[in-house]
Amino acid sequence: MRPLATHIEIDIAALHHNVRKIREYAPQSKLMGVIKANAYGHGLVRMAGQLDKKLDAFAVARIDEAVSLRQAQVKGRILVLQGFSQAEDVSVLQDYRLEVVIHSEEQVALLESLDLQGTLRVWLKIDTGMNRLGIPPSQFASILSRLKQCHCIHHGIAFMTHFANADDSQDNKTLQQLQLFNDTVEHYPGEKSCANSAALIAWPATRQGWVRPGLMLYGVSPLLAQNAGQLGLKPVMNLFSRLIAIKQVSKGEAVGYGGSWVANKETLIGVVSIGYGDGYPRYAKQGTPVLIDDQRVPLIGRVSMDMLTVDLSDCINIKLGDSVMLWGSGLPVEEIAVYAETVPYTLLCGITKRVMVYEKNCL
Ligand SMILES: *Cc1c(COP(=O)(O)O)cnc(C)c1O
Repeated sequence: MRPLATHIEIDIAALHHNVRKIREYAPQSKLMGVIKANAYGHGLVRMAGQLDKKLDAFAVARIDEAVSLRQAQVKGRILVLQGFSQAEDVSVLQDYRLEVVIHSEEQVALLESLDLQGTLRVWLKIDTGMNRLGIPPSQFASILSRLKQCHCIHHGIAFMTHFANADDSQDNKTLQQLQLFNDTVEHYPGEKSCANSAALIAWPATRQGWVRPGLMLYGVSPLLAQNAGQLGLKPVMNLFSRLIAIKQVSKGEAVGYGGSWVANKETLIGVVSIGYGDGYPRYAKQGTPVLIDDQRVPLIGRVSMDMLTVDLSDCINIKLGDSVMLWGSGLPVEEIAVYAETVPYTLLCGITKRVMVYEKNCL
């Protein structure tokens, strides 16, 4: 029986399909799956359990996320993308055998001051134009030689960078960043990693060494100009709710908070049990599509915390209790993101705790 509550279905077969697809895009590369932010809303430990041994490593943003993975018996390589900022962090990294990004001179100074022993694996991040984390190319040689003197570090230091504009396949900034990275690390042996999802699809030259896909693992297009279907990806998250009321409103009646939608004729409206309290975007515009019984119906009025309203006038055979899809297979989250003037990342990450999670198509 289908559960009544608002819920997401995680399509496990689609996830594995996407992993195979990534291997097709980058057959020579090692694959580091990015599962930060609760695996983009799909469940950190659930996704790690599914992907463990199928990928070559995991990446998360913060130490806490990596520790949760170790506590869930994930044994493989895990990289902490944001690195560390205090001495306590370093001992946690060592205790849990985590790998870490070094992105600033201050981190190197901290390691030097601690004078620890060990084999902490580090990835030295170079800022090639994103201007967020990373050391400038001009400091690369000196920082690398200081790192090599630290007694707590594994000798195979790896190198990485991150692209700012890879989702735009017309924007040459990605190739400029890649060139600067390659020039900087050219004479230094070590593992290398540049590409996020967008880069590994749109910029083949970035597929060297390790690739670091996040979004495409979950079957969502990272590109502005191509959808997931065109890229051969299948959405993993399907968001469902139910129709909990149907009513007729007369011409001139307003619906919902603020009365932002007013019926211009006698209209049949439906009330769906999902709102921003579940992570459905509050700013989804009038007309945002919602799928009921395979029919697209438009959102009307304001999204409230627990409910939203739709116009059922053009539907046939809709009845109370019908299942409603908000995004997923057949209704891409990319499309909803456009209506909400955001990116699919925020919608996936924004699913809240009260939304039940089920798995389907388990292998
Ligand atoms: C989040 C992140 C990724 C993954 O990005 P996607 O666009 O989801 O593929 C890769 N690398 C770094 C450094 C990140 O922070």
